[in-house]
Amino acid sequence: MEISKKQLDLVDAQIKRIIDSGNYYSEVYKKAGITGVSTPEDFKKIPFTDKADLRNAYPLGIQAVPDEKVVRIHSSSGTTGKPVIIPYTAKDVEDWATMFARCYEIAGITSKDRIQITPGYGLWTAGIGFQAGCEKLGAMAIPMGPGNTEKQLQMMIDLESTVICATSSYALLLAEEINKRGLKDKIKLKKGIIGSERWSEAKRNYIAKELGIELYDIYGLTEIYGPGIGINCPDQTGMHIFDDFLYTEIIDPQTLEVLPDGEEGEIVITTLVKEGAPLIRFRTHDLSRILPGQCSCGRSYPRLDTIRGRSDDMFKIHGVNMFPSQVEEILGSVDGVSSEYKIDIAHDNNSNKDIIMITAEADGRVDFMMAADKIRSLVKSRFNVTPKVAVVSLNTLPRSEKKTQRVFDHRGD
Ligand code: ZN
Repeated sequence: MEISKKQLDLVDAQIKRIIDSGNYYSEVYKKAGITGVSTPEDFKKIPFTDKADLRNAYPLGIQAVPDEKVVRIHSSSGTTGKPVIIPYTAKDVEDWATMFARCYEIAGITSKDRIQITPGYGLWTAGIGFQAGCEKLGAMAIPMGPGNTEKQLQMMIDLESTVICATSSYALLLAEEINKRGLKDKIKLKKGIIGSERWSEAKRNYIAKELGIELYDIYGLTEIYGPGIGINCPDQTGMHIFDDFLYTEIIDPQTLEVLPDGEEGEIVITTLVKEGAPLIRFRTHDLSRILPGQCSCGRSYPRLDTIRGRSDDMFKIHGVNMFPSQVEEILGSVDGVSSEYKIDIAHDNNSNKDIIMITAEADGRVDFMMAADKIRSLVKSRFNVTPKVAVVSLNTLPRSEKKTQRVFDHRGD
């Protein structure tokens, strides 16, 4: 979706504010000769920015307002290196709560609801965001934070919580406990707000069924306010993103080319009115696509599809971008095939072609040859790339407690 005139004006004002502030980005823009934007073409010339920039600017190098305007900081911990610090002004905190309250409203939550908040409080943006949005809406916040399942269940029953906010793993754990203890009749939950990450349909269905609730995916990241910048509506056709606060683009993570609506790539977000730490064209590394057209609910906010994974996990075969999650999805549709798999990519010098080899596991009742044929034809029809497929017995592939490496690229070997 092309940037609107109104959004352009906001970006223009933001760039001027950044330059005046003398912060980290003022230097970046001065060097690039950027003084403002007045057309969509100008906007497209603004360089992308990434988490690495925020680390370079540690601790407060991206602050774009005087100290007396900053009321709070949040921090996102990277897996490596320095954390990222994001300063917020009173207006930023207010705007975030406004967006979050809007998320609750879109999910059909009202001031009569009782919202049990299990994401963590502290330096990161989770718990406090859920809380501020809840208070703004006028609902009752039950600020539990994570863990202590005994107490969670006690409060859920005694206070008759109607909404649970959690990560998908914690929601699953609670659902399992409620099931195990036979507490389903005692709980009053109606809706779950789940921090957006890629999670399987099976997990989603289990939680929804065991708890008897509707589930909503809430999107956000610390660098861009925090969770609460977008959510699904009851029509469940993607997450509405608030275009009065943010401009969203989808890019090819390798060529950095902006992709048209409907095509899958990396989400890039521009804050339009953020004061403490404005970010223009920030690469989230989250993969999704902008759903074309308007939602059947009638809201005009643009929509992002479910997050498909991280661009860091992407690989390319014969010019086609592929993600492990897409392969996983195909495997999930084949009867008897497990969710464990391995992808090897190699270059065949004789034919001068890249070769993709998928190793999947299937249980004993499945004909391995037929399963392999099925996977091959599904991959071929989806990506127009014919893989080699090996189907092996269950528990052949290594399991890992941590994130399992799925893709092995041997092309540089
Ligand atoms: Zn909608």
